[in-house]
Amino acid sequence: MTDEFTLIIDGREVIARRGMTVMQAADSAGIRIPRLCYHPQLEPFAGCRLCVVEVEGMKTLAASCALPAAPGIIVRTDGERVTAARRLAVELLLSDHPADCLTCEKCGRCELQQYAYELGVREQPFVGERHYDALDDTNPCFLREYAKCILCGRCVSMCHDIVGAGAIDFAHRGFTCRVASPFGRPLQETTCVFCGQCVQACPTGALVERSRAGKGREWEFSTVRTICGYCGVGCGLTFYLNHGEIIKVEGDENNPVNRGRTCVKGRFGWDFLTRPDRLTSPLVRKDGELAPATWDEALQVVVSNLSRIGSEHGPDSLAFLASAKCTNEENYLMQRLTRQVFATNNIDHCARLCHASTVAGLALAFGSGAMTNPIADLRRAPCILVIGSNTSEGHPVIAYEIKQAARDGATLIVADPRRIDLCDYAAHWLRQRPGSDVALVNALMNVILSEGLADEAFIAARTEGFDDFRSSVTECTPEWAEPITGVPAEDIRSAARAFAGADATLRSSEATPLRSTRRAAIVYAMGITQSSHGTDNVLALANLAMLTGNLGKPNAGVNPLRGQNNVQGACDMGALPNVLPGYQRVDDDALRRKFEQAWGNELPSQPGLTVVEMMNAVESGQIRGMYIMGENPALSDPDICHVRKALEEIEFLVVQDIFLSETAAYADVVLPGAAFAEKGGTFTNTERRVQLVRRVLSPPGEAREDWRILLDMARTAGQDFGLDSESAVFDEMAALTPSYAGMSPARLDQAPLHWPCPSPDHAGTPILHTERFTRGKGLFHVVSYRPPAEEPDAEYPLILTTGRILYHFHTGTVSRRSASLDSLAPEGYVEINPATAAALAVADGERVRVSSRRGQIEIRCRVTERVGREVVFIPFHFAESAANVLTNAALDPQAKIPEFKVCAVRVEKAQG
Ligand code: SF4
Repeated sequence: MTDEFTLIIDGREVIARRGMTVMQAADSAGIRIPRLCYHPQLEPFAGCRLCVVEVEGMKTLAASCALPAAPGIIVRTDGERVTAARRLAVELLLSDHPADCLTCEKCGRCELQQYAYELGVREQPFVGERHYDALDDTNPCFLREYAKCILCGRCVSMCHDIVGAGAIDFAHRGFTCRVASPFGRPLQETTCVFCGQCVQACPTGALVERSRAGKGREWEFSTVRTICGYCGVGCGLTFYLNHGEIIKVEGDENNPVNRGRTCVKGRFGWDFLTRPDRLTSPLVRKDGELAPATWDEALQVVVSNLSRIGSEHGPDSLAFLASAKCTNEENYLMQRLTRQVFATNNIDHCARLCHASTVAGLALAFGSGAMTNPIADLRRAPCILVIGSNTSEGHPVIAYEIKQAARDGATLIVADPRRIDLCDYAAHWLRQRPGSDVALVNALMNVILSEGLADEAFIAARTEGFDDFRSSVTECTPEWAEPITGVPAEDIRSAARAFAGADATLRSSEATPLRSTRRAAIVYAMGITQSSHGTDNVLALANLAMLTGNLGKPNAGVNPLRGQNNVQGACDMGALPNVLPGYQRVDDDALRRKFEQAWGNELPSQPGLTVVEMMNAVESGQIRGMYIMGENPALSDPDICHVRKALEEIEFLVVQDIFLSETAAYADVVLPGAAFAEKGGTFTNTERRVQLVRRVLSPPGEAREDWRILLDMARTAGQDFGLDSESAVFDEMAALTPSYAGMSPARLDQAPLHWPCPSPDHAGTPILHTERFTRGKGLFHVVSYRPPAEEPDAEYPLILTTGRILYHFHTGTVSRRSASLDSLAPEGYVEINPATAAALAVADGERVRVSSRRGQIEIRCRVTERVGREVVFIPFHFAESAANVLTNAALDPQAKIPEFKVCAVRVEKAQG
């Protein structure tokens, strides 16, 4: 039976599907019905009356946005009666609207202006009381002009239904009705997250980006579509330019990842691009000072020093850091330069510090280490377990999906030591002690097994190693886990039942039939991975997914959220010490030979050093020369006092970046690179989707795209790679990388693709492991709980955990140079529970000293229930109160990822 039927619109037969409205049916047939309050992502509001239509047999006009399409109905969208009603609606709106189109920022894009023109409204026929509100310019991101608000409600619905912030709503009734924040407070004092979705949705000039005010008329702007350079979600952005100047940024409505939505960083955090302190020429250290130099001179100094060190001390005395902020092409070239020109596998990047344990753990369990399902799957997942991910701040647009799913009836389970934003949407919040994740997940699985909730058919058909695994969790009862995790046994039991779908019958009786299946998705991030037993944590989650059969199907899976914009791509490109592009092992002779033949050189076969090992090797004298592209280990690595000492001691250091970062300050040569909006190429987002990046601006001064610098470097070293564009680099990479083999820049220009995409006729793979795992069968692992490397004691009685906040990114190198982001979050802080603060006699806002065995910092304290009594939290973005002075460099033995998330600290009132 088909869902399709026919109706008549304006005399044409139109095919519609069940569930469509008349407006949607008309849109699908190219019949444009006017609308002001309607937005395709929102539930119909039916308030503006612009979309009214005549339906044969109905006495009154009907709002087409809310009118269900039905078989055989006859609709007229353009009759005299309809036009008169629309004209009246516009006249009424204009009767209380400033007629200042000539000076309005939205002139030329204002939808009200457009309809007034189309409907022939030439004057304001109604005279009466009017609103004259002053312009509200109290926030750093956008302007609010209430007098231009037509109360269409798009901003309110965006804020509530899409973003889940609920910072604005309709207040009052009748003439005094207005969109307002609670008690009219400035937005900074509300739950507003400054995503700017309201601004993008506003059809008039009531909400306007600060950056575009006075910068030109809408029709003067050109646009460039590209991908956000902050986090791994990979949102599509549309840059608006006027005469080469960026005017504003909007979410790309046509990008399948974000469908127009962004967070504050993507929309408002781009002004660092034109900061005067951008690096604009190469710098070479002379007489102890960094001084401007020509490119030829700088490249010569780099090549001669690295070559000299390599020949005097062997190639493995050199180390290279690639960059998860750079494109796939640039990471490919960086690892080719490292391996082919400098003959070492000592290459790594910041994935080591965020998801190395994901790559290691999922490769062991499934054969490949990446997000198994697309982001969009979360929207329809019946149950979502979010563990070790403050998604609302780390990956905001993914949090929008999770919140919408929870509002639509999905069961959300949050496991996090802090009361994060998602807890407000969760049916179950498990506040586990930092570092106790294996105990918690094993206990969840113990319940699932003991209550007969495992997916036995999936286990039998698709997995191996089950019997040993089952024996290993027999003792891990919720009562065993309670004292380790701090989570009450009964809470573990009920969360386990929810995850395994024991309440699926209950959900299936509710509104959404799509939620009637027993499927559950696991979402995790650095709370799981940044641990000295991060690989165990990941393996435990892989066990949980296999135990419940939640792999290889929609709305399920194991979904690690990658941190930086291209950290997935940098891993895929082989910017890792043990693998070439496509995770082809350097110590596999056949695979290595393929690259040797393509590049024409013998390549090193021994896996190289990882990030933290490199810094240790500097101290021991093994590493003497280092080339760092777009990374900032002087702030991002654990125990940074140790790292800074290493950077000071190293014989020769090259840093390629866009600002003189904390790390660049130690360099002998600084090479000015290009930011994400100043280059072409590709990024691969957290869900393995490869997307084209387009150039919005030219790099400033003599700065060059990083891929050009790397090709110039190879040429200076006497090895011309024979490549002259980003697309040529991509094509070479794709020819050597099976999972990218079917992709090309031309194909990606049409639509992004999920890898693996092995051939040009392959559509890409949004869901992994549908028929078989990459390794054949999924492998259960025995994972035993081990305590963190450092536990609190009498001297250091509190547990420090670190993480991101919404307004900043990584080491703050760019986000802290964005005026709006910096003004929304100007300084670091330590979160302390009220009971702990009282015991320490410190008050909210006071400065405290936080000490660990590795160092101490002074920082303002924020007294909050978000953390439990024995835990404190510090965001790691702030150089002047750097959390990584305190963190522990203890490594996971397999993934070599450090223990950022747990260390023992002491907090005291700061002196003076
Ligand atoms: Fe950029 Fe991530 Fe924000 Fe999207 S969610 S706009 S990718 S920072």
